[in-house]
Amino acid sequence: MRIVQIDSDGAAHRHYSYARDLKGHFFALPSVSCVPDYQNESGCKSFSPQHPAVPLTRNQTVQLSLRCKVMAVPVQEEGIPNTTVIPQSPIASEKLPIPRPISMGGEEEFRSVIRHASRLPLALRNALCRDGVFIGNPGKVVALLEKMMTAGAERFQVVTDFDATLTRYHRDGKGCDSSYGVLETTTMFPPFYREEASKLCDYYYPIELDQSMSLEVKSQHMRDWWSKAHGFLMKTGLKAEWMGEMVRHSTVELRDGSLKLFELLENAGIPLLIFSAGIGDLIQEVLKQHGNFKPMIVANFLDFSEEGVVRGFQKELIHTFNKHEIFSHHQTDYFAKHEERRNVLVMGDMMGDLKMADGMRAKEDVLTVGFLNSKIQKCFPEYRDGFDIVLIDDQTHDIPISIVEAIINGAT
Ligand SMILES: [Mg+2]
Repeated sequence: MRIVQIDSDGAAHRHYSYARDLKGHFFALPSVSCVPDYQNESGCKSFSPQHPAVPLTRNQTVQLSLRCKVMAVPVQEEGIPNTTVIPQSPIASEKLPIPRPISMGGEEEFRSVIRHASRLPLALRNALCRDGVFIGNPGKVVALLEKMMTAGAERFQVVTDFDATLTRYHRDGKGCDSSYGVLETTTMFPPFYREEASKLCDYYYPIELDQSMSLEVKSQHMRDWWSKAHGFLMKTGLKAEWMGEMVRHSTVELRDGSLKLFELLENAGIPLLIFSAGIGDLIQEVLKQHGNFKPMIVANFLDFSEEGVVRGFQKELIHTFNKHEIFSHHQTDYFAKHEERRNVLVMGDMMGDLKMADGMRAKEDVLTVGFLNSKIQKCFPEYRDGFDIVLIDDQTHDIPISIVEAIINGAT
């Protein structure tokens, strides 16, 4: 038996895929990861030994989750052309990545301002003028960068989101796991968790991206989502000692250049705060497996019993849209400790991430960098107006590195 087509939804939260053989038989692949292909004895092919393919019988109907659209796909009789079976539109319309070069219109105007900003180092100017970068207000960005360079590394700090900001959103169009995605794909959990988490995602993920909904209403929905997901998580019997294996077998991946960015910051003594609505323990594990960096992390940390089994969370829930409220509740003295560092680089991939530095009382200048990973055409206007610098389908940290290097080297 030979699989001739395998496709996936390519989104970070979705982990269902399908394959078909030459005769049009379908096989549900419960999960997808980026490791090399594996094949079981009956010839069913999956991407991972932890996520074996499931053979389906003819005339059975299987539910496929494709980027939040759940559809029933009948498994056809032999000989029926494949094209009548495979749903084309969800994949075709939302395929990642969109091809480069990406032009959103107006690039020449801002690039002209950047090119003539002679006080910025050439490397930074070149980086900001490359494809996939968009700056809505170049005058403001140049002025901010010049001020930050003059003030230098001693007055600078970085606050960043984790999922899809420090980590890749996709590799070659296949979605990479978020910290919650690690939980959804692990085979160490009973199957009910993935099913329930998937249902929640199908319902709440479109709300998270819905631009027509007010922040207050979205915030309540996100609270409900996180609370329900955490409720299911408590029933999995998760053990602290599982974290390493779960991360190793996931597709979570740091963006290209992350380690260089961490080293630059560490060597220059610039504090890095990771402010995430994800699972703090998994974030720690990812960093441990990629260079063992230990920045400050504010996230949803699990609470384990003496036997090492999960029993709750340590502090109040953080979700995508309440980051601005969290610092006072978490009573961290982090910003007080770094009060003299009034220039802040804020990085995120959600509009709610823009508010991450709101808890800083003494901030002076904040430069925001937004990673626009999906629904690019639709979300672009909001990101352009919200973030100082928008990085469109950029799976690297090249731009943050260029900015940090310029600030470390200071004004000339
Ligand atoms: Mg994120």
